[in-house]
Amino acid sequence: ATAATVETETPAEDRRLDIMSLYPKDMNIYGDSGNVLTIQRRMALYGYEPVTHYYNQGDQWPIEVDLILGGGGQDTGQKKIIKDFFARANLIRELAADGVPMLMICGMYQLFGEYFETSEGEKLPGIGILDAHTVGEEVRLIGNLVEESDDFGTVIGYENHSGQTFLGDGAKPLGKVRGEGAGNNGKDGFEGARVNNVIGTYMHGSLLPKNPRIADFLIAKAAEHRYGVFDPQVTPAAREELDRLDRFASEARRVAES
Ligand code: GLN
Repeated sequence: ATAATVETETPAEDRRLDIMSLYPKDMNIYGDSGNVLTIQRRMALYGYEPVTHYYNQGDQWPIEVDLILGGGGQDTGQKKIIKDFFARANLIRELAADGVPMLMICGMYQLFGEYFETSEGEKLPGIGILDAHTVGEEVRLIGNLVEESDDFGTVIGYENHSGQTFLGDGAKPLGKVRGEGAGNNGKDGFEGARVNNVIGTYMHGSLLPKNPRIADFLIAKAAEHRYGVFDPQVTPAAREELDRLDRFASEARRVAES
């Protein structure tokens, strides 16, 4: 290659980002896999090369992880993964402390807290990254949800859970519920939790296609973790696509708010 080619061509390894989809077999309901698709797509539009690791129980842990996405699951799914999850707990805690962004929806959000006591009285320990605990109740909290987040503005989604989550002083809520929804517990008005770059939330939906600001936050933090900076390289065609996706999200927000 000529020197000019070397200067203008970015080697793929400089733009690679490693995404982990955590327990997609057992923890993935109400469209949570859409979060993985959104991250893959938007990373590519920003000129990065996403590599996705679908990690299930017993799998090998990849060498590089820049972002972790976990979904919701039934209580039974949570019980299935708990042993393997604990074998990986220290690793995940270290990554969180190192600034690796993580998005945990519903069932995985609960297990990122201190514990989840199911409605049958069984106590599943959590890995304690989020200062929160969850207690299962008979009544399920179901419905569309709109919240105001200090960090991300208006966030929209759909909740469906029996667990009620209560935050400790070490976690700040992702947002405050607006209108009808229940959020963490239907009592204190809070929804979700955030510690460092780790976000837990009850928002299914999928969350990220409807809330691109959160997707972009996760991507920026993933790039910073890997390369020290987020350096989007957006072609005109990619810009158009990003604008189209933003219009979709605005429209979804308009409908949710009406
Ligand atoms: N099993 C948990 C609950 O019902 C999580 C449900 C979910 O992930 N949607 O509270």
